[in-house]
Amino acid sequence: MLHSIEPSVFLASDLLSTTAQCPHCGTKCAVSDGVVGLLHYRLEDELKYSLVWVCQPACLLAFEHSQFMGRA
Ligand SMILES: [Zn+2]
Repeated sequence: MLHSIEPSVFLASDLLSTTAQCPHCGTKCAVSDGVVGLLHYRLEDELKYSLVWVCQPACLLAFEHSQFMGRA
């Protein structure tokens, strides 16, 4: 179980100042300004799970596959 969504817990310090694009909403910001979570997502019709960086906690919830959010 994850106990933090702070990027600094999961990523090397030299990566935190780089810019990334949120896979959910497309926002570009410093990696240190976003959040990291263990998410289920669909890639080319295959359901996958891994640590995913997004720009804000709301994007974590939105990017999580609906099958794992109590929705059909
Ligand atoms: Zn986002």
